[in-house]
Amino acid sequence: MSLIKVNNSRCKSCYLCLNVCPKGLIKKSSVTNRLGDYLVEFDDKNNECLGCAMCAKRCPDIAIEVYKD
Ligand code: SF4
Ligand code: SF4
Repeated sequence: MSLIKVNNSRCKSCYLCLNVCPKGLIKKSSVTNRLGDYLVEFDDKNNECLGCAMCAKRCPDIAIEVYKD
């Protein structure tokens, strides 16, 4: 099972990662950062993450780590 972790302290809420995930597993969260911008969340109830790291490569702020087994 693969998964990602988003480092909220690095995320700048640019949302570039949302569209690159082939499974659509990254969504805008209802949680905001200190600037009032919505953070993103990994939503993978069905364990669909491929561990492809497209999201991590796209993130300009190195806020996403991928764990692949
Ligand atoms: S590793 Fe791939 S499948 Fe998993 S969340 Fe990132 S882009 Fe989506
Ligand atoms: S690409 Fe990176 S900085 Fe932009 S919303 Fe996604 S995790 Fe946050």
